[in-house]
Amino acid sequence: MGQLRIPGPTPCPPEVLEAMGRAMINHRGQEFVKIFRRVTEKLQQAFLTKNDVLVLTGSGTGGLEAAVVNMLSPGDKVLAVSIGVFGDRFASIARAFGVDVVPLKVTWGMAADPAAIAQALKDNPAVKAVLVTHNETSTGVTNDIAAISKVVKGAGKLLIVDSISGIGAIECRVDAWNLDVVVAGSQKGWMVPPGLTMVSVSAEAWKAYANAKIPRTYWDFGEAKKYAERGQTPWTPAVSMIYAFDVALDMLLKDGMDAVVAKHKRIGDATRSGVKALGLSVFADEKHASNTVTAISGPAGLDMKELRRILREENEIVLGEGQQTLADKIFRIGHMGWVTEKDIQEVMQAIKAALPRCGMKGTK
Ligand SMILES: *Cc1c(COP(=O)(O)O)cnc(C)c1O
Repeated sequence: MGQLRIPGPTPCPPEVLEAMGRAMINHRGQEFVKIFRRVTEKLQQAFLTKNDVLVLTGSGTGGLEAAVVNMLSPGDKVLAVSIGVFGDRFASIARAFGVDVVPLKVTWGMAADPAAIAQALKDNPAVKAVLVTHNETSTGVTNDIAAISKVVKGAGKLLIVDSISGIGAIECRVDAWNLDVVVAGSQKGWMVPPGLTMVSVSAEAWKAYANAKIPRTYWDFGEAKKYAERGQTPWTPAVSMIYAFDVALDMLLKDGMDAVVAKHKRIGDATRSGVKALGLSVFADEKHASNTVTAISGPAGLDMKELRRILREENEIVLGEGQQTLADKIFRIGHMGWVTEKDIQEVMQAIKAALPRCGMKGTK
């Protein structure tokens, strides 16, 4: 059996996929209300929060756009901390809506330094909110959101976190870490196909919402909250996805989020040691290497495109490519959600067998 080892969409357990095949129901009827309330409650448990968790139909990027349009006004100043492709995307969404973005860019492969964020906030006292990526999927780096939150909340700013490839797999304590808005995506760690974005909203974030002037309709958090209170969504939701989530969240919560986080740590460690044993390198600064995606670089002459082709065509293992300037410099293995150590061993064996045919010297 093949493996989809990209950082989203990720493989889904058969019981999750089966749940999606169920007949449609009235999204304004009592049956839907029961399922939707249940899913929302379980998401709050997984987010470790008492805050509202809004379930919106759309991709993760939709959730990022929703966070921007519900929290900010045109002309507001924000600090956008970017450590890779997705951090840049968050900043450009804000710019598209007329937000005054102060960029804080970090060398790709490195994590953001909380002290540098503190300094940027000192230098730019008018900043209202900080946008930051929890887990940068393009480089395989995890930011220390607990430490960043201390700095940002200590300075009295709103903290808006893209945790799309983090929460649900990597530790993310929404209440304990005082995170105002946290955006998640169904197709990453949640063992569910693409189609839903889940966003937690703190009391302080609701205050920002009340003053935010960017126009919005589809993504309006206030509408989503009003309808969620009666177990509904303002617009027709992706009903099949809600069925899928109901099943997947039971699987996740059965052993608790600490166990889910520990599993991803084990698998992240196994991936990194496997990579090094093959003579390849982990692209990320290893102190901050991600437990959901590993970006891998190799010696000069290694043809990564050919490596991915061999694995895809001969082993039915699909690996991720590098994005933008990393296109020919790295490849990526997604290891979030429904994944085991044995899956990773299989991937390593396939890479090992393919390397001598991909221009890697010193292997035979
Ligand atoms: C996947 C991802 C996104 C984009 O999500 P889409 O569902 O593709 O829109 C944004 N940020 C991060 C960190 C991601 O991993």
